[in-house]
Amino acid sequence: MLLAIFGGTFDPPHLGHLALCRAALAGLGPDRLLWVLTPNPPHKRGRRITPLPHRLAMVELALQGQPFELSHVDIERPAPHYAFETARLLAAQNPGADLLYLMGSDSLNDLPTWRRPADLLSALRYLGVMRRPGETPDLPALEQILPGLTAKVRFVDAPPVDISASEVRARVRRGEPFERLVPPGVAAYIREHHLYQPPNR
Ligand code: ATP
Repeated sequence: MLLAIFGGTFDPPHLGHLALCRAALAGLGPDRLLWVLTPNPPHKRGRRITPLPHRLAMVELALQGQPFELSHVDIERPAPHYAFETARLLAAQNPGADLLYLMGSDSLNDLPTWRRPADLLSALRYLGVMRRPGETPDLPALEQILPGLTAKVRFVDAPPVDISASEVRARVRRGEPFERLVPPGVAAYIREHHLYQPPNR
Protein backbone atom coordinates (compact mmCIF):
# COMPACT_ATOMS: atom_id res chain seq x y z
CA MET A 1 0.00 0.00 0.00
CA LEU A 2 1.43 3.36 -1.01
CA LEU A 3 -0.03 6.21 1.02
CA ALA A 4 0.49 9.76 -0.23
CA ILE A 5 0.62 12.66 2.22
CA PHE A 6 0.05 16.21 1.02
CA GLY A 7 0.56 18.74 3.78
CA GLY A 8 -0.36 22.38 3.43
CA THR A 9 -1.64 25.58 4.96
CA PHE A 10 -4.30 25.80 2.25
CA ASP A 11 -4.91 29.52 2.80
CA PRO A 12 -6.75 29.08 0.45
CA PRO A 13 -6.63 25.73 -1.40
CA HIS A 14 -6.13 26.45 -5.13
CA LEU A 15 -5.92 24.79 -8.52
CA GLY A 16 -2.13 24.35 -8.16
CA HIS A 17 -2.74 22.05 -5.19
CA LEU A 18 -5.29 20.03 -7.14
CA ALA A 19 -3.02 19.84 -10.21
CA LEU A 20 -0.13 18.53 -8.12
CA CYS A 21 -2.31 15.85 -6.54
CA ARG A 22 -3.94 14.78 -9.81
CA ALA A 23 -0.56 14.48 -11.51
CA ALA A 24 0.89 12.60 -8.54
CA LEU A 25 -2.02 10.19 -8.56
CA ALA A 26 -1.56 9.53 -12.27
CA GLY A 27 2.24 9.41 -12.27
CA LEU A 28 3.21 7.91 -8.92
CA GLY A 29 0.17 5.71 -8.33
CA PRO A 30 -0.52 5.98 -4.60
CA ASP A 31 -3.42 3.85 -3.35
CA ARG A 32 -4.67 6.73 -1.18
CA LEU A 33 -3.86 10.42 -1.09
CA LEU A 34 -4.42 12.35 2.13
CA TRP A 35 -4.50 16.13 2.46
CA VAL A 36 -3.07 17.07 5.84
CA LEU A 37 -4.21 20.54 6.86
CA THR A 38 -1.63 22.11 9.15
CA PRO A 39 -3.30 24.30 11.79
CA ASN A 40 -0.14 26.28 12.71
CA PRO A 41 2.56 25.78 10.10
CA PRO A 42 5.90 26.04 11.95
CA HIS A 43 7.64 27.54 8.89
CA LYS A 44 5.02 30.27 8.44
CA ARG A 45 5.19 31.75 11.96
CA GLY A 46 4.87 35.49 12.09
CA ARG A 47 2.50 35.54 9.12
CA ARG A 48 -1.20 36.17 9.51
CA ILE A 49 -2.99 32.93 8.75
CA THR A 50 -6.74 32.58 8.27
CA PRO A 51 -8.43 30.84 11.23
CA LEU A 52 -8.53 27.06 10.94
CA PRO A 53 -12.35 26.68 10.62
CA HIS A 54 -12.33 28.76 7.40
CA ARG A 55 -9.39 26.83 5.92
CA LEU A 56 -11.02 23.54 6.91
CA ALA A 57 -14.29 24.54 5.24
CA MET A 58 -12.43 25.59 2.07
CA VAL A 59 -10.44 22.33 1.94
CA GLU A 60 -13.68 20.36 2.28
CA LEU A 61 -15.13 22.35 -0.63
CA ALA A 62 -11.97 21.90 -2.71
CA LEU A 63 -12.00 18.12 -2.15
CA GLN A 64 -15.64 17.63 -3.15
CA GLY A 65 -15.73 15.11 -5.99
CA GLN A 66 -11.93 14.63 -5.91
CA PRO A 67 -10.25 11.26 -5.31
CA PHE A 68 -8.35 12.65 -2.30
CA GLU A 69 -9.23 12.46 1.39
CA LEU A 70 -8.86 14.96 4.22
CA SER A 71 -6.80 13.75 7.17
CA HIS A 72 -7.40 15.27 10.60
CA VAL A 73 -4.10 13.94 11.94
CA ASP A 74 -2.60 17.39 12.60
CA ILE A 75 -5.91 19.01 13.56
CA GLU A 76 -6.40 16.49 16.33
CA ARG A 77 -3.00 16.93 17.96
CA PRO A 78 -1.47 19.89 19.73
CA ALA A 79 1.07 22.16 18.00
CA PRO A 80 3.81 22.19 16.88
CA HIS A 81 2.88 20.26 13.76
CA TYR A 82 6.17 19.08 12.37
CA ALA A 83 6.01 16.95 9.21
CA PHE A 84 8.33 14.26 10.60
CA GLU A 85 5.81 13.61 13.39
CA THR A 86 2.88 13.68 10.97
CA ALA A 87 4.63 11.03 8.89
CA ARG A 88 5.36 8.92 11.96
CA LEU A 89 1.75 9.11 13.13
CA LEU A 90 0.37 8.18 9.72
CA ALA A 91 2.85 5.29 9.48
CA ALA A 92 1.67 4.03 12.89
CA GLN A 93 -1.99 4.37 11.83
CA ASN A 94 -1.33 2.49 8.56
CA PRO A 95 0.93 -0.45 9.41
CA GLY A 96 2.78 -1.84 6.41
CA ALA A 97 2.09 1.21 4.23
CA ASP A 98 4.87 2.94 2.32
CA LEU A 99 4.71 6.72 2.55
CA LEU A 100 4.99 9.16 -0.34
CA TYR A 101 5.26 12.80 0.76
CA LEU A 102 4.12 15.31 -1.87
CA MET A 103 5.44 18.85 -2.16
CA GLY A 104 6.24 21.64 -4.56
CA SER A 105 9.86 22.38 -5.50
CA ASP A 106 9.84 25.46 -3.22
CA SER A 107 9.18 23.20 -0.24
CA LEU A 108 11.90 20.79 -1.39
CA ASN A 109 14.42 23.64 -1.43
CA ASP A 110 13.26 24.62 2.08
CA LEU A 111 13.38 21.07 3.44
CA PRO A 112 16.73 21.48 5.27
CA THR A 113 15.09 24.22 7.40
CA TRP A 114 12.23 21.93 8.50
CA ARG A 115 12.46 20.26 11.92
CA ARG A 116 14.41 16.96 11.75
CA PRO A 117 14.32 16.61 7.96
CA ALA A 118 16.48 13.45 8.09
CA ASP A 119 13.86 11.78 10.29
CA LEU A 120 11.13 12.80 7.86
CA LEU A 121 13.15 11.42 4.97
CA SER A 122 13.81 8.12 6.70
CA ALA A 123 10.07 7.66 7.39
CA LEU A 124 9.33 8.00 3.66
CA ARG A 125 9.62 5.68 0.72
CA TYR A 126 9.42 8.56 -1.76
CA LEU A 127 9.32 12.33 -1.94
CA GLY A 128 7.02 13.36 -4.81
CA VAL A 129 8.00 16.78 -6.12
CA MET A 130 6.20 19.02 -8.58
CA ARG A 131 8.22 21.81 -10.13
CA ARG A 132 6.98 25.34 -9.45
CA PRO A 133 7.85 28.26 -11.71
CA GLY A 134 11.00 30.01 -10.46
CA GLU A 135 11.90 27.23 -8.00
CA THR A 136 14.47 24.89 -9.52
CA PRO A 137 15.51 22.23 -7.04
CA ASP A 138 19.23 22.03 -6.37
CA LEU A 139 19.48 18.28 -5.77
CA PRO A 140 23.30 18.07 -5.39
CA ALA A 141 23.21 20.79 -2.69
CA LEU A 142 20.25 19.13 -0.95
CA GLU A 143 21.96 15.73 -1.12
CA GLN A 144 24.99 17.17 0.69
CA ILE A 145 22.78 18.29 3.56
CA LEU A 146 20.42 15.31 3.50
CA PRO A 147 22.23 12.21 2.24
CA GLY A 148 19.86 9.74 0.56
CA LEU A 149 17.41 12.40 -0.54
CA THR A 150 18.07 12.14 -4.28
CA ALA A 151 17.29 8.42 -4.36
CA LYS A 152 13.87 9.11 -2.85
CA VAL A 153 12.82 12.02 -5.06
CA ARG A 154 10.30 11.28 -7.77
CA PHE A 155 9.41 14.24 -9.95
CA VAL A 156 5.75 14.55 -10.81
CA ASP A 157 5.59 14.81 -14.56
CA ALA A 158 3.22 17.68 -15.26
CA PRO A 159 3.46 21.22 -16.59
CA PRO A 160 4.17 23.69 -13.77
CA VAL A 161 1.15 25.63 -12.57
CA ASP A 162 1.83 29.27 -11.77
CA ILE A 163 -0.62 29.67 -8.90
CA SER A 164 0.12 30.33 -5.24
CA ALA A 165 -2.11 30.99 -2.26
CA SER A 166 -0.24 34.29 -1.77
CA GLU A 167 -1.29 35.38 -5.24
CA VAL A 168 -4.92 34.44 -4.61
CA ARG A 169 -4.92 36.45 -1.36
CA ALA A 170 -3.26 39.44 -3.03
CA ARG A 171 -5.75 39.42 -5.91
CA VAL A 172 -8.74 39.28 -3.58
CA ARG A 173 -7.28 42.09 -1.48
CA ARG A 174 -6.76 44.27 -4.56
CA GLY A 175 -10.24 43.52 -5.88
CA GLU A 176 -8.83 41.69 -8.93
CA PRO A 177 -10.34 38.55 -10.47
CA PHE A 178 -9.21 35.45 -8.61
CA GLU A 179 -12.00 32.99 -9.41
CA ARG A 180 -10.04 31.09 -12.05
CA LEU A 181 -7.28 30.20 -9.58
CA VAL A 182 -9.46 28.28 -7.11
CA PRO A 183 -12.28 25.71 -7.30
CA PRO A 184 -15.71 27.40 -7.71
CA GLY A 185 -16.89 26.42 -4.21
CA VAL A 186 -13.77 28.01 -2.69
CA ALA A 187 -14.29 31.22 -4.69
CA ALA A 188 -17.87 31.45 -3.42
CA TYR A 189 -16.72 30.81 0.17
CA ILE A 190 -14.06 33.54 -0.03
CA ARG A 191 -16.64 36.04 -1.29
CA GLU A 192 -19.31 35.01 1.19
CA HIS A 193 -17.01 35.25 4.21
CA HIS A 194 -15.12 38.36 3.00
CA LEU A 195 -11.77 36.64 3.42
CA TYR A 196 -8.48 38.30 2.48
CA GLN A 197 -9.85 41.86 2.61
CA PRO A 198 -7.65 44.77 3.70
CA PRO A 199 -7.87 45.25 7.51
CA ASN A 200 -9.93 48.49 7.28
CA ARG A 201 -12.69 46.96 5.14
P1 ATP B 1 1.64 30.51 0.08
O1 ATP B 1 1.66 31.23 -1.26
O2 ATP B 1 0.72 31.13 1.07
O3 ATP B 1 3.01 30.26 0.62
P2 ATP B 1 1.18 27.94 -1.26
O4 ATP B 1 0.46 28.29 -2.52
O5 ATP B 1 2.63 27.55 -1.39
O6 ATP B 1 0.97 29.06 -0.16
P3 ATP B 1 0.70 25.85 0.69
O7 ATP B 1 -0.59 25.45 1.32
O8 ATP B 1 1.70 26.51 1.54
O9 ATP B 1 0.34 26.77 -0.59
O10 ATP B 1 1.34 24.62 -0.09
C1 ATP B 1 1.21 23.28 0.27
C2 ATP B 1 2.10 22.48 -0.66
O11 ATP B 1 1.67 22.65 -2.01
C3 ATP B 1 3.60 22.90 -0.65
O12 ATP B 1 4.39 21.74 -0.72
C4 ATP B 1 3.74 23.71 -1.92
O13 ATP B 1 5.05 23.64 -2.44
C5 ATP B 1 2.76 23.00 -2.83
N1 ATP B 1 2.23 23.87 -3.89
C6 ATP B 1 1.46 24.97 -3.73
N2 ATP B 1 1.16 25.52 -4.92
C7 ATP B 1 1.74 24.74 -5.87
C8 ATP B 1 1.81 24.79 -7.32
N3 ATP B 1 1.24 25.77 -8.00
N4 ATP B 1 2.50 23.79 -7.94
C9 ATP B 1 3.10 22.81 -7.21
N5 ATP B 1 3.08 22.72 -5.88
C10 ATP B 1 2.42 23.66 -5.20
